[in-house]
Amino acid sequence: MEDDYMTAKQKFRLKWPIVIVVCLACITLAVVSFIQFYDKIQLELYRERSYHLQETMSTTAEKAEVLLNNSWELLENAAHLLREEHPSDAAAVSETLSYMNEIFSAGGQPILLVDDQRTCFREDAENGKTIFKDADLLLSEEKKQIAIESESTTAVDTGQYMLLLLKLDEPYEYGEDGAKLTHIGLIADMEEFSASFRSDAYDGKNRTYLLNKDGTRVFYDAIDDGLLRGYNALRSLENTSFLYDRTSDGVLLEITSGEEGTGELVYENSKYFIGYRPLSDYWIYITIVPEEYVSANTTGFTGTLIRGFTTFGIMMAVLVTATVLVLFFAINRSKQVEIEQKMNKELQRATLAAQEAEKAAQSASAAKSQFLSNMSHDIRTPINGIIGMLDIADLYPDDTDKLQECLVKIRAVTNHLLTLINDILDMSKAESGKIVLANESFDLCGLVKECSDMARGRLQQKNLTYTENLTERQHCHFYGSPLHLRQVILNILGNAVKYTDEGGHIELTLKELPGTDETNALIQIAVADNGIGISEDFQKQIFEPFTRGDNTAHPELRGTGLGMSITRTLVELMHGQITVSSKLGEGSTFTVTIPMTIDLDASAHACDTQHTAVGEAVDIAGMKILLTEDNELNREIALTLLENRGVVVTEAVNGLEALEAFRNAEPGTFDVILMDVMMPVMGGIQAAEEIRALERSDAKTIPIIAMTANAFAEDVERTKAAGMNEHLSKPLDVNQLFQTLARYRRG
Ligand code: ADP
Repeated sequence: MEDDYMTAKQKFRLKWPIVIVVCLACITLAVVSFIQFYDKIQLELYRERSYHLQETMSTTAEKAEVLLNNSWELLENAAHLLREEHPSDAAAVSETLSYMNEIFSAGGQPILLVDDQRTCFREDAENGKTIFKDADLLLSEEKKQIAIESESTTAVDTGQYMLLLLKLDEPYEYGEDGAKLTHIGLIADMEEFSASFRSDAYDGKNRTYLLNKDGTRVFYDAIDDGLLRGYNALRSLENTSFLYDRTSDGVLLEITSGEEGTGELVYENSKYFIGYRPLSDYWIYITIVPEEYVSANTTGFTGTLIRGFTTFGIMMAVLVTATVLVLFFAINRSKQVEIEQKMNKELQRATLAAQEAEKAAQSASAAKSQFLSNMSHDIRTPINGIIGMLDIADLYPDDTDKLQECLVKIRAVTNHLLTLINDILDMSKAESGKIVLANESFDLCGLVKECSDMARGRLQQKNLTYTENLTERQHCHFYGSPLHLRQVILNILGNAVKYTDEGGHIELTLKELPGTDETNALIQIAVADNGIGISEDFQKQIFEPFTRGDNTAHPELRGTGLGMSITRTLVELMHGQITVSSKLGEGSTFTVTIPMTIDLDASAHACDTQHTAVGEAVDIAGMKILLTEDNELNREIALTLLENRGVVVTEAVNGLEALEAFRNAEPGTFDVILMDVMMPVMGGIQAAEEIRALERSDAKTIPIIAMTANAFAEDVERTKAAGMNEHLSKPLDVNQLFQTLARYRRG
């Protein structure tokens, strides 16, 4: 049981890998779900930021466009004023310029005029004039141009101004030398301009670039950190990588084709959002914002959301793992408890069974010790009786009556001793399951009569009347074990005689009840007496071994307490039943019912109803018998009894002697051979076999009667197999011996 428990425990231990796998699966699932969720959130975030950037960019671009348009309008108006003022020399141009600044440059943005000699009229320049350095700007066909003010343009490099240059529709000739004013420009403070590009939405962290279509920078705000630092800003973008399925080539193509859009890029391990759109037909407007400043609120919210979900995911994974573990332990525990309970129950059952077995063993041993003490008493009592009788006989050697009386009493107690020994032997056989039933054809009526005959002597002694009803039957011959059936009938009949007072009546009824078909029948043998009866309580245990009724009123009826137990064992071996019905003081009826196969062939013949009554005188005088017996006393008893009946006896002390005596005698010398079984030199079985094997006329026919103390069925079988005709058990029943011999009397 301990082992069972251990294996059960081990079984649960083996499930650990499953728990680990389940936990890992839960964690993996949680991680994968989280990654997918995170990616999805990031994508949504990207879209949201892009959208936000686009919106903001549109607003700022529109603002810048308005600012620029205002500036261009201002320059258009100034150009118009120039024509109205109509200056005719350089001094007049400077004057007009000063007038222009007065009127238009309210914000302090100086206006300048440039002629085809690259003379730049500018109020803040020394002598009001300077050289316009960037010839390319002047040569360009573009009407509107923007440039950073630098050495190369206006020769004034402040680093924070830009030039808006408008090409005049018609060059204005102002001097005697034919010089013509070709461009009118405006110096704008870059800071003021860039302020319009800055958006509060990005906490002022966006960078703005205004590029020419070829990518050259015309404007950038002051907080350039170098992302689009090169002269050609677009080229700088080529070296960046874009996220979310965008490529720098694709983005560049969109920018140069004048499309509007957004994207996210990685530059020197930092992420930036870029927005681009065309501005005023001439320029490209680009804004770049560090990722974290785009939709900072959304980012914050999303970050919180992701953190929340991460925490939630981890908690869930921990929770699921913990739940799985707790469940596992709970189930494990409950199963263990279940097993423990089962084990406990089994243990209790086993303990109970052991206790019962112990009780049974105790009661069996108590019954046996009781039995042994009974036996010791039972054996001593008759032996005492015998010794007593012998002592009395010694006292009256000449008193024939007294001697006769002693002999009768000795015979009675000896018979009792014999029954006791037989019962003990039978019981031990029955208990060890060694009883082997024969299955031979026998005459049932004859067997019953034989039993009646055997009981008749005791019936007469007790002056009991006896009725035998054998009429309720159709067949006589059945298959079975006659030896054992005889024992059953004799036991019941013997008890009926024993436990019925003088003058009582006993009735034996044999009935043949229908069987399952015509080949078999239910044989019922009932023995009813009007004896002392059996109490209801004792009826329940009458068939248990070593039990005896309360026969205190009849101390002379002391039995072994084994007879009924042996009887029931035999009946059950024959697949039958035995029942008892009784009333104390009124009598008892024992009924035995046994299924038997009918010997249909033999039953066709008339039943053998010829039986010799017990005690009836049999005539065996003159019979010639070969008596084989090794025990001298037994031989002498047999010799005396036989010779007393007029039998001519030849003695042999062992099987070999008998064999020789028979071989040497003329055929017909002996009527019967009486053969003991267990003898030295040669046993009875071998002697019988060898006699039967002799080559002479009477070897096969001479009746051989076994006389043996071995009274079991298999002993009978053995003697029969050796070719013997009859089997008489020792001690010899003299009447039975004479009757048997009489059957083989010739003539
Ligand atoms: P015993 O050797 O004592 O007769 P049995 O096993 O044959 O043993 O019988 C058990 C007991 O049953 C007897 O001691 C007796 O009390 C009772 N008993 C058996 N047969 C009868 C009967 N026909 N009438 C009364 N009592 C009987």
